[in-house]
Amino acid sequence: MPRVANRIAEIDTSGIRRMFEIVNEAKKKGLEVINLSIGEPDFDTHEEIIKRACEAMRNGFTHYTSNFGIDELREAIAERYKEKGVNVSAENVMVTVGACEALINASFAFIERGSKVVIPSPSFLAYFSYAKMCEAKLVTVKTHEDGFILDADKLNEVMDKEVSAVFVNYPNNPTGAVMDQRELKAVYEVASDYGAVVISDEVYDSIYYDKKPGTLAGEENAIVVNGFSKSLAMTGWRLGYVVASEELLEKMLRLHQINGVCAPAFAQKAVAEVMAEGIDKKITGEMVAEFRKRRDFVYSRLKELGFEVVKPEGAFYFFPRYENATEFVQRLVSEKGVALTPGTPFGDGNENYFRISYATSMENLKKAFEKIEEFLS
Ligand code: PLP
Repeated sequence: MPRVANRIAEIDTSGIRRMFEIVNEAKKKGLEVINLSIGEPDFDTHEEIIKRACEAMRNGFTHYTSNFGIDELREAIAERYKEKGVNVSAENVMVTVGACEALINASFAFIERGSKVVIPSPSFLAYFSYAKMCEAKLVTVKTHEDGFILDADKLNEVMDKEVSAVFVNYPNNPTGAVMDQRELKAVYEVASDYGAVVISDEVYDSIYYDKKPGTLAGEENAIVVNGFSKSLAMTGWRLGYVVASEELLEKMLRLHQINGVCAPAFAQKAVAEVMAEGIDKKITGEMVAEFRKRRDFVYSRLKELGFEVVKPEGAFYFFPRYENATEFVQRLVSEKGVALTPGTPFGDGNENYFRISYATSMENLKKAFEKIEEFLS
């Protein structure tokens, strides 16, 4: 039996695996499981995008594209940033196979083996795995006391010349916290002063409620990762992108060339078309309106039940506090059939937290909270 490489074997996925097992055990017991642990929109991809993708396939968009992606999509993406006042052009955009591929690419391109990588906690769990795959030393900065915002002074305390990269992710998974332009820029300046690259994962940037998320697009030492999985409910299409300086993109392009990577041609064409016509804004806007209703409902229920929780400003998650949350999550699914995600996989100091995803119907959310209330009483 071939042995898996140590750097992969050492990545701990047991927390997540255990949750899948518990959900399956509950289903086997005949419990109807309401799943509030899913990190993707519950909406199907809009018919307009599907229609255009089918047309694109008939029109020959079935081949490899440039490793940078098709120009039409790169231009449409750059146009959106220009609308926000960010000075970037199509040359600053590289299309990727989802945001995950962009994150892996950025990690391999810029994280030196043995260097330090700073990751705020809680954070999307993939950053920890990618940094480990690059054989880096992980440094976490807890954000719990700052409403899950990464404080620039706290970042400064852990920075030194050995740090090759700092991950930031706002709107944030798992907390829904948002950092505005000023806050994000302050963090960028600290990291950049030490020569580190800032990998800013902005995949939830169009899912926000009140506070407007900032962006590091256009900053010299920042790699902005984004995509359409969340904003256009296209998780299975695998379409993401990077916005960065031409110099940094050149380095990332090398990995696309080495690995023979380009995103699906028909998906690129379909999204380029809907973006050029502004249809994407309408699709996202309708989804966000629905997410807002759910967020307000979940927030009022959590408060009623006495949970300590920060009201999220973006994405579709809550990260409430609960003493010994892993046990709570396990018991809730096996006794009441409500699946949540324990906080521990999201980094250090999260054992007393859990994540709720409200990317599920209002009906499911109502039922789930009845069951949580029963459990607590
Ligand atoms: N980044 C964050 C913060 C996420 O939550 C996710 C998915 O859950 C991704 C990236 C992955 O996005 P994609 O489907 O575009 O690879």
